[in-house]
Amino acid sequence: MGKFCLPLYYLSLFKAPGCVLSELESIRRKFFWGDTQSAKKICWVAWDRILAPINKGGLGVGSLKNANLALLSKWLWRLNADPSSLWAKTIAAIHASRRRPNPLPAKKTIPGTWKNIPVIHETLLEHNIDIVNMPNGAEFETKEIRLEIEAATSTDFTYKHSWLSWIPKKVDLFAWRAALNRIPSKSELVKRGVQMPFPSCPWCFANEETPAHICLSCPMASDIWRQIKQWCAFDFSTDGTIIDLLQLQSAPPSHSKSHKILRLIAVCSLWHIWIARNNKIFQNQNTHAKSVVDEIKSSSFLWLRHRGKIENLDWIKWSSNVSCFL
Ligand SMILES: [Zn+2]
Repeated sequence: MGKFCLPLYYLSLFKAPGCVLSELESIRRKFFWGDTQSAKKICWVAWDRILAPINKGGLGVGSLKNANLALLSKWLWRLNADPSSLWAKTIAAIHASRRRPNPLPAKKTIPGTWKNIPVIHETLLEHNIDIVNMPNGAEFETKEIRLEIEAATSTDFTYKHSWLSWIPKKVDLFAWRAALNRIPSKSELVKRGVQMPFPSCPWCFANEETPAHICLSCPMASDIWRQIKQWCAFDFSTDGTIIDLLQLQSAPPSHSKSHKILRLIAVCSLWHIWIARNNKIFQNQNTHAKSVVDEIKSSSFLWLRHRGKIENLDWIKWSSNVSCFL
């Protein structure tokens, strides 16, 4: 058994104690945010939001606690699906009571891993998930059960990001964080205890560098957005928050190709504005708005060609006017 299977093996047999689960989640959280032994990193988004399902505003990573429950619940299903198997007969011989017959036999006084299983049944019932009375012939999928448990137990966050497979995951992840004000702009760093004299914008120096300022309202960002709006013949909402921008209120319906293209351009623009900002801060590199716009045009073209599979996508047309593809 490979070392990566071992945790799965244990989690499918034993109910992990709370302290073990929180230690394991802590290791996962540190790995996610890039902690090393020598450097502690800021956890920008609360771990429960990272674990929460995507349709509840999370990242859909899923908790180990729920993975453990789902893996163990398979025993409930197997007991009913295959009562004539040797292990089911063994469980019945040890745990069944003649006086009180029970489809899920368990004698709490007998030590061993089985005594946890009926408890799991009760926990799942609290979330309206009944594995014991699944319809005959219904297939058991651990992943499906895990998703059901996640859906029943996680917080419902207000902001739901519309993830788009045409956008590289790390870029869309950046947009999600920007929408939540969880990117390392100076103002957000100060909030998290990083000390600096005044968290000023690296471009205009006149304002505090908040995520919305650097990405939308700074004169440099405004200039970029002005050109993007002209290029797309679409009025991206840049006077409010990053969430307002990403919601694309005045765009065609969200399932349409046009909406997806506009969304891709909005996220691509945020990404390249952020890269230009980093180049200014860390390499003192001054960039013209026009070159950021050129980067946005070429990245969005590449993403659409390779991921969006838009027909008749032509660079000359694309770089001069997006509206013929909308
Ligand atoms: Zn500024």
